[in-house]
Amino acid sequence: MKTIFEALNWASSYLTEAGRDRNAAEILLIDQLQLERSQLLANFHDVMSEADLLQFEKQVELHRSGVPVQYITGKEFFYGREFLVNHHVLIPRPETEEVVETVLFQANRVFSGKDCLQTVDIGTGSGAIAITLALECQRMSVSATDISKAALKMAMNNADRLGAQVDFFSGDLLEPLISRNKKADIIVSNPPYISEEEMAVLSDVVRLHEPVNALTDGADGLQFYQRFMKEIPNLISEKALVVFEIGWTQGKAVRDMFLKFFPKAEVQVKKDLNGNDRIVYAVIQHNS
Ligand code: SAM
Ligand code: GLN
Repeated sequence: MKTIFEALNWASSYLTEAGRDRNAAEILLIDQLQLERSQLLANFHDVMSEADLLQFEKQVELHRSGVPVQYITGKEFFYGREFLVNHHVLIPRPETEEVVETVLFQANRVFSGKDCLQTVDIGTGSGAIAITLALECQRMSVSATDISKAALKMAMNNADRLGAQVDFFSGDLLEPLISRNKKADIIVSNPPYISEEEMAVLSDVVRLHEPVNALTDGADGLQFYQRFMKEIPNLISEKALVVFEIGWTQGKAVRDMFLKFFPKAEVQVKKDLNGNDRIVYAVIQHNS
C-alpha cells in the first residue's frame, strides 16, 4: 500500500537516479489518476488503489528506460492547447511556439491589408503549427503537408479534435502543393535540421524514440533549407513571408542562403527564449 505522496516520492527519486527529469513523476501520476495538479496535492495522503499503483509503476519504468513522457501519456500542450502525439510524430517543442508567434506578428506587419492569407506548413507532424495558426488567425487559410502518412493521420485527428480547418496533403516537401497549382503568401516549416554528427550526441530520449525522419536530414542539417530555396519560387505569386525554425548553429548559413537565392529579400535571424538562434524569417518577392 502506498499513498499518493509515497508513490510520487518513490517515482521522483527513482527517475532522478536514472538521470531523468523529476517532474516526469508528477506528470505521469496526474495522468494516471486523471486529476488536476491541485487535486493531486489536496489528496496527497489518500491511499492509491492497487491497479493505479501498478499502472503508474509501469509508466515510470517506461520513462526510466527512455520513452518520452509525452509518448506515454499520449499528449503535449502547444500554444495552450492539448495535442495528441504518438511515436510517428515529433513532440511539439516550446521553441516552436515562438515560430508561431513570429508568423502571427510578421503576417500582420507584412500583409496588413490583405483579407485572405494562403498559409502552408511543411512537415506538419502533429499539426501543431498549422492547427494553431488556423485557430489563432481568421485571415489564414491553412494547408499542411508531411511525407509521413502516419503523422498526417495524427495531425488530422488533432485538427478535428480542436475544431481547426486545415487541408492536409501527403508528399515530398512542396511537391503536393506545387503539383496542385497552389500558391502561398506564407510558408512556414520546422524541417528536420539536426545534422548526422549532432544526432550521435543527442539525448537517448529524443534519438531513440522520436521519428528519425522528423529529426535529421542524414547529412549536414541544411539540406531541407537548400531544397526550399530552389522550390519556393514555384509556390509564391508575388510577395511571400517565409518562416523557418532552425538549429542554433544555422542562423548565418540559412540567412546567407536566402540572400543568395533572393538577393532583395529582407532577412532576419531571431533568438529563442534561451538566447539561441532559432528562427530565420524572410520577406521575398517573386524573381528577386
Ligand atoms: N511541424 C511539427 C512541429 O514543429 O512540431 C513537426 C516538425 S518535425 C521536426 C519535421 C516533420 O517533417 C516530420 O513530421 C517529418 O515527417 C516531416 N518530413 C520529413 N521529410 C519530409 C519531406 N521530404 N517532405 C515533407 N515532410 C517531411
Ligand atoms: N528541436 C528538435 C530537437 O531539439 C529538433 C527538431 C528538428 O529537427 N526540426 O530535438
